[in-house]
Amino acid sequence: MTEAPQDPVAVPAESPARPAKVERFQTLTGMRDVLPPDSARRRALVQMFADTVAAAGYTEVVPPIVEDLGVFLRVGETTDVVTKEMYDFTDKDGTRIALRPEMTAGVVRAFVQHKPLLPWKVWYAGTNFRHEKPQKGRYRSFEQVGVEALGVDDPDLDVEVIALGWRFYESLGLRQVRLQLNSLGEGQDRARFTEALRVFLEARAGELSEEGRSTLARNPLRVLDSKRPEDRAVVAHAPMVADHLSPASKEHFERVCSGLDSLEIPYAVDDRLVRGLDYYRRTTFEYAADALDAAQNAIGGGGRYDGLAEDLGGPATDGIGFALGVDRILLACDAEGVFPAPVAVLDAFVVDLVGGDAARDITHELRAAGLSADRRFGGGSMKAQMKSADRSGAAHAVIVGSDEADAGEVTLRSLRAVANDQRRVPRARLVGELKAAARSTPTTRDPSPGSQQEIEEHS
Ligand code: AMP
Repeated sequence: MTEAPQDPVAVPAESPARPAKVERFQTLTGMRDVLPPDSARRRALVQMFADTVAAAGYTEVVPPIVEDLGVFLRVGETTDVVTKEMYDFTDKDGTRIALRPEMTAGVVRAFVQHKPLLPWKVWYAGTNFRHEKPQKGRYRSFEQVGVEALGVDDPDLDVEVIALGWRFYESLGLRQVRLQLNSLGEGQDRARFTEALRVFLEARAGELSEEGRSTLARNPLRVLDSKRPEDRAVVAHAPMVADHLSPASKEHFERVCSGLDSLEIPYAVDDRLVRGLDYYRRTTFEYAADALDAAQNAIGGGGRYDGLAEDLGGPATDGIGFALGVDRILLACDAEGVFPAPVAVLDAFVVDLVGGDAARDITHELRAAGLSADRRFGGGSMKAQMKSADRSGAAHAVIVGSDEADAGEVTLRSLRAVANDQRRVPRARLVGELKAAARSTPTTRDPSPGSQQEIEEHS
C-alpha cells in the first residue's frame, strides 16, 4: 500500500483540546471592514462612476492586485509611495512582488503586455495599499476609481479626462470641489526645471526643514508641495515651472486651459502642483474638497505620463489618467450632506403561520419571477414575524394563515400605507399583484443621510 502524500497544511487528525481562551482577531492597523449600509453606498458610487465614464467610451480593465516589484520601482524610485510605503515581499518562488500602491503602473504594464488597439481608453475600480500613518481619510488599504487613456497626444483629451472627473463629482452632488491645474512640461523641460530648482534649494538648504532637506536630496520637485512653513517660505521665491516650458508645452497647456474655459469648468493654475509620482509630464491636476480638512482634502488627481509605457518596456506612447479616492470622496459627501447610502427595499416579506412550507415555496416563486423576497427562518408568532417584516424594509407582507391556506389565497398587506391597507388575493395572482405594485413604487427608498463608516484605528 502506498502512503498518502503529506499535506503540508493539513490539520492533525486528532485536534488538540480547544484552548481555554481563543485569540480574537481585528482588522490590521489602517485597514477597515466596509459593512452595510456603507458597502451599498460604495457600490452605488462605483456604478455611478462606471456609468459616467462608459458614456465617454471608456471600458473596464481589471489588473491583478499584486505585480512584479519592478513594475512599481520603474515608476517611482524617488517617491515615498514606492520607497517607503509599499507592501513588498518575496513570494514562495523567490519572486519579489508588491501589493499595488496605485493603479496606473499596473494598467500601463497591461497595455504594454497586451498591445491593444489605440486609443486605449479604460477605467478601473480597485483597492490599493500604502503603509502610511493612518488617520481620518488616510488608510493603509483604500479604494480608487480612475481612468487611463493611452495613445493620444491631443490636449483635448486632457480636457475630456479632467472634465469626466469634474462631472462625476457633480453627479454625486458635491459642490465644494476645487480643480488645480499645472504643467510640468515635457521630459526635457521638466529636467531643466528640476535642475534649476535643485540649485536654488541647495543654496537655501539651511532654511529648509529637516524633512525638506531629505526630500531635496531625493526629489527636489517634491519640496514644492511640502506643507511645512519653513519650506513654504523658501519655495515662495523658487523658480517657476512656467518659465521653463518649451513653446510646444506652453501651447498644449493653453489649449487645455481654453478647453476647460469653454466647458465652463472652473480651475486655478497652481504653479507649485507637482503630484506624488515620478511619471507625470505636461498636464497635472488635482481635485480638492473644501468641505474636508486641508491636510486630507485631495480627493483625486492625475496627469499625463507620456514616457511611462516606454519605461515599462513598451513603445513610446502618450497617456493621461486620473485616480479618485473613494474613501475621501465619501467623507466629502458626508461633509456636504450629499449622496446618502441607498436603502435596499424588498418587494415582499412572507409571513408564514402554517408551518413553513408557504414561506419556503412563495419566496422561491417570487424570486424566480424577478421579485425580491425574504422570510423569517424558524417561524415565530405573527407579532415576531411582522416585526422582522418591518425591519426588512419590504413594501408588502404576504401573510399566510390557515384561513388563507385553505382558500388558496394570501393576505397582502402594505407596510408603507399609513392606514391599514390589506386585502386577500388568490395565490395564483400574487406575482401579478406584486409586480403591479413594484411598478408604481421605486425599488430603493430615499435614504436618511448616510454616514461614512468610521472604524477606530488601532495604532
Ligand atoms: P495619488 O495616487 O496619491 O495621487 O492618490 C489619488 C487619490 O487617492 C488621492 O487624491 C486620495 O483621494 C486617494 N488616496 C491616496 N492615498 C490614500 C490613502 N492612504 N488613504 C485614502 N485615500 C488615499
